[in-house]
Amino acid sequence: MPPAGVPRLVFASHNAHKREEVWAILEPLLPGWTAPDFASASDFDVPPPVEDGVTFADNALVKARAVCAATGLPTVADDSGLAVDVMGGAPGIFSALWSGVHGADEDNLRLLLAQLVDIPDEHRGAAFVCAAALVTPEGHEVAREGRMEGRIARQAAGGGGFGYDPIFVPAGHEVTAAELTAAQKNAISHRGKAFAAIAVDIAAL
Ligand code: IMP
Repeated sequence: MPPAGVPRLVFASHNAHKREEVWAILEPLLPGWTAPDFASASDFDVPPPVEDGVTFADNALVKARAVCAATGLPTVADDSGLAVDVMGGAPGIFSALWSGVHGADEDNLRLLLAQLVDIPDEHRGAAFVCAAALVTPEGHEVAREGRMEGRIARQAAGGGGFGYDPIFVPAGHEVTAAELTAAQKNAISHRGKAFAAIAVDIAAL
């Protein structure tokens, strides 16, 4: 265990919403850990790296390596996105900037709905995909992937979540991911599955 005041793990993201979502997933899986054990990249002065990978796992490892190198602490990162069947897996790793501006969630989902306007319900299959990566200062590296299958709705609904949640209906549900509670989403989500898998690697550190 590190000295008092030093976090045990850094999450390589500046996105506060995502940090909360990931901590809610990890906390029950890491007995004895408390919130200060799980720091965020925003607590350190680490510039985001260039995400030049071509898969979710590549990019998760790029982010984790950069923060681990800068902080000297074990680091987890994730990279995620939406893969639409009829679009050959796009927007994929380009999900956050699909409309041209990084993080323009509303524009991104409007563009996607417009691109799929003529596609009938039976061909609107899609999945959220998340890769979670763990990198340690000793050079241990691992990445785990999780998926949430579903379909693209015809119109946006719901005020929860973020990104493409208002247009994504998870398999087995009749409402969008933005209409689920955080706990309901975490129980079935791509991020929930990827971080549940990597929690085993974290616990083994
Ligand atoms: P990144 O993993 O931070 O690079 O995020 C990729 C992008 O994928 C986000 O900006 C969202 O547009 C989308 N995305 C990833 N996970 C989710 C999710 O759980 N709900 C909605 N959109 C998501």
